[in-house]
Amino acid sequence: MEALIVLLPGDGIGPEVIAGARRVLERVAGRFGHRFDFREEMIGGGAIDAVGEPLPESAIVSCKAADAVLLGAVGGPKWSDPNAKIRPEQGLLELRSTLGVYANIRPVTIYPELAGASPLKPEILAGVDLLVVRELTGGIYFGEKSRDDRSASDLCTYTVEEIERIVRVAARTASKRRGKLCSVDKANVLETSRLWRDVTDRLVASEFPGIELETLLVDAAAMHLLSRPAEFDVIVTENMFGDILTDEASMLAGSLGMLPSASIGDGKAGLYEPIHGSAPDIAGAGLANPCAAIASAAMLLRHSLGLDAEAAAVEKAIADAVGDGARTADIAAEGETPLSTAAMTDEIIRRLS
Ligand code: NAD
Repeated sequence: MEALIVLLPGDGIGPEVIAGARRVLERVAGRFGHRFDFREEMIGGGAIDAVGEPLPESAIVSCKAADAVLLGAVGGPKWSDPNAKIRPEQGLLELRSTLGVYANIRPVTIYPELAGASPLKPEILAGVDLLVVRELTGGIYFGEKSRDDRSASDLCTYTVEEIERIVRVAARTASKRRGKLCSVDKANVLETSRLWRDVTDRLVASEFPGIELETLLVDAAAMHLLSRPAEFDVIVTENMFGDILTDEASMLAGSLGMLPSASIGDGKAGLYEPIHGSAPDIAGAGLANPCAAIASAAMLLRHSLGLDAEAAAVEKAIADAVGDGARTADIAAEGETPLSTAAMTDEIIRRLS
């Protein structure tokens, strides 16, 4: 097949991990007989420095024309003033809403060999295989904001349609997995959550009768994620709760450097990115773990290009490399010699051929 993939390396370690993911995609194209055209565009702090805005028009045009977009990370200390009018993460929010990618999908896979890298006990982690579906383009992050000398407010709004479409994505995903869906809200306090719960209960009962639905308040969910993570299959929740719970869930896997994400909408196009940030503390040193970016490329192959076998081959290559002891510094145990970003990528590519 032929596909246009737009790369948005961004800031910090973004360019390093995206270079690795691109090499993996090139190998996939060669091995499986596809043609991937890559177009690189700017986003984030580097784009602010270069052209004065975090998401230049040319990037928007390219991303809209692409079959899929693979992003590194944005931000860093140079652009971190919260009172600045133009900030790197505005580029990311604009990109998500421009592409209409309202569902953020974050699988949390535990590589058995890395159980020691998590702060949780191995017996709690045994069998963890969960996936969080976070609503990405609504809720309090996009509501009207106001501020005066004595107060500030952020409006949280959800419509029935916004809730229905994200719950459908989650329920469809659950029906292809273990058939369990956990919806997380704060229905004892928030009106938006009461609507969320009503819509979810009704939709799952009428459209997905085979799905086992559990409902948790967000504070309880935060606790259960650490006390019984293996019991979760698919978790669906609104934008801000999902933002927080997915970072918490990432610690189950031991390192931010291992976990991918996909943001999808109604069409085939999607935005794929590792869940980690630009890691300014290690940027430019060749220390970054490329696994999250490479696993994001695997999600791209599966969701946007429909290449299931190719995606599975990439995921297996990552698991095999880790299983054989390949480690970047973030996942290396004491006494193990860590690999550079490029050397870790080589280990994965070697297992693809
Ligand atoms: P971060 O994820 O960048 O880093 C947290 C810690 O994890 C650091 O110690 C870092 O070295 C380590 N780490 C992260 N990714 C790694 C990898 N692939 N390999 C090895 N180690 C890795 O989070 P932060 O420090 O809170 O944020 C840094 C910057 O990134 C901030 O400007 C923040 O706004 C931005 N950020 C961007 C995104 C995004 O682009 N989607 C997400 C989160 C944070």
